[in-house]
Amino acid sequence: MGQFDGKVALVTGAARGIGQAIALKLAADGADLALCDLKAEWLEETAGLVKELGRRVECYSVDVSNAAGVDATVKQIEADFGKAVDVLVNNAGITKDGLLMRMSEEDWDAVLNVNLKGVFLFTKAAMRGMMKQRSGSIVNIASIIGLIGNPGQANYAASKGAVIAFTKTVAKELSSRNIRCNAVAPGFIKTPMTDKLSEEVQQKMLANIPLGRFGAPEDVANVVAFLAGDASGYVTGQVISTCGGMVM
Ligand code: NAP
Repeated sequence: MGQFDGKVALVTGAARGIGQAIALKLAADGADLALCDLKAEWLEETAGLVKELGRRVECYSVDVSNAAGVDATVKQIEADFGKAVDVLVNNAGITKDGLLMRMSEEDWDAVLNVNLKGVFLFTKAAMRGMMKQRSGSIVNIASIIGLIGNPGQANYAASKGAVIAFTKTVAKELSSRNIRCNAVAPGFIKTPMTDKLSEEVQQKMLANIPLGRFGAPEDVANVVAFLAGDASGYVTGQVISTCGGMVM
């Protein structure tokens, strides 16, 4: 018996990195999975691994920043699985780094649209079913950068700080319906997103991590599973930094 037996979990940005690890952890704990990413075919690897765990899995192409697409996707998921989404993990996110002096309006908008508007759209679409069934758990993937800021990441920091504020507001609005909303703030996690950084930047980061190692996607997935499940039934509106002690 897994803690998510009979439950449907929706994970955005599930093709790779942290999203893939979250999908696999929730599946290992018994959830059926609705996987979302920009292109459904990129989800084949994650879907295959979920199937190997013996869980049902469906893949959906959707841009999290497209309101009509998000609405249609959540309706399709509810129809395919014959029930509301029980666990929503808003994980899809992008970076477009640059010092503020040189940051273009396009790069600002792109990051805010995916990282913040995407969280708003998916939460709004999935909460309707959760409200009807009077239960649900939403976990938003923020970042420690949303807590402490970072030179060259004004757009990203603003988006993740806003996700944390959004998380607390959703927690307050939906708690009377038995829907919880929490956030995870990862530090430096080894994924394609961070592989883009130079070796020099990576070594500087490492020097500031008390636990002396970069995080693995599974480190984040374990915290997400805790927040998504009943073990955290009395926890809502919280942010758990998963950063090897970088921020404390
Ligand atoms: P990643 O490896 O780049 O994976 C992100 C996934 O989201 C990719 O599959 C990406 O597709 C997808 N995605 C991007 N834009 C999308 C959109 N508009 N609609 C749907 N899907 C979209 O990133 P990651 O490192 O796993 O990060 C996952 C989350 O953790 C993000 O929210 C990130 O900000 C957060 N985070 C990561 C770290 C870290 O150190 N890695 C630290 C703190 C927070 P593409 O292949 O097209 O990009």
